[in-house]
Amino acid sequence: MTQRIQLPETLEGKTILIAGAAGFVPSTVSEFYLKLGAKVIGLDNFITGSKSNIELLRKYKKFEFHECNIYEGLPDFTDIDIDYVFSLASPASPIDFGLIPMEIMRVNSEGTRLLLELSLEKGARFLEASTSEVYGDPEVHPQTEDYVGHVSTIGPRSCYDEAKRFAEAMTMSFHKKYGLETRIIRIFNTYGPRMRPNDGRVIPNFINQAMRNEDITVYGDGSQTRSFCFVTDLVDAIHNVMFSDDPTPFNCGNSDEYTILDTAKFIVDALGSSSKIVFLPLPKDDPKRRRPDMTKLQSVSDYSPKITFEEGIRRTTEFFKSL
Ligand code: UDP
Repeated sequence: MTQRIQLPETLEGKTILIAGAAGFVPSTVSEFYLKLGAKVIGLDNFITGSKSNIELLRKYKKFEFHECNIYEGLPDFTDIDIDYVFSLASPASPIDFGLIPMEIMRVNSEGTRLLLELSLEKGARFLEASTSEVYGDPEVHPQTEDYVGHVSTIGPRSCYDEAKRFAEAMTMSFHKKYGLETRIIRIFNTYGPRMRPNDGRVIPNFINQAMRNEDITVYGDGSQTRSFCFVTDLVDAIHNVMFSDDPTPFNCGNSDEYTILDTAKFIVDALGSSSKIVFLPLPKDDPKRRRPDMTKLQSVSDYSPKITFEEGIRRTTEFFKSL
């Protein structure tokens, strides 16, 4: 039976390893833990992460960074104690799936294995950032953690979806075989400052199009749905899961669900844009509906998303305007 989550007040004296630290979500996680007093060691190969995110983190004295391909080997941590390991290193945007599938599969298999072995060696607690993509195009709505998914092994998303399913299986295997303390999160659609403007995902696309009064590209008829979580709320969910005592997966996200057409209209209105909405073909295997059932995390924690969609879009737009 999962105990109610007790969050630490400080992480002073603790060392946290964050794989993928230059990325949008992981750099936000890194900053959160630096503010809680931890020493953070970041790793990244900059395949999709950004050097400017690392520069932002360098203003904290307790941040250390190593540029490396984690699937080819980790830096030498022989004399360093590590308390927590976050496996957050995978590219995650659908445009990446077509461009860098080998890197995605290698980081989630070999990279994750190396992080798990390091955790075992150091006695660290390990967290795998999995994804709502393990549910594929779901036949169960909203998605609960016990739904086993509906995933194509050969479709355009399979390099990511199956790699993350493998990463979950390997994480559970380390837990079961060696008793390693492991946690698994399934991240749903997330947005916010530090996203790549050319990341191809719906929120950066729509905001950047609306800012320039260009056509808003809705794929299909826009009736497909997503549930968008602002990045600081996601970090709150991740933090709660790391400090839970449950090795089985937790959905992490915001259960407010929007059609993509409504999302487009909302962003055009919020930005006072004169953009027109145009309809383009729907990519293959694009999930039709996605919403996390958040009951599991909410039944053991105080987690509740705080940033409204309006406020989140405002903050994300400010970020894109500042670039
Ligand atoms: N989408 C869209 N226009 C865009 C980008 C995305 O209509 O310019 C749609 C996409 O087809 C999907 C949804 O928005 O249905 C979310 O896409 P995203 O790439 O952000 O992430 P996904 O949830 O599909 O992994």
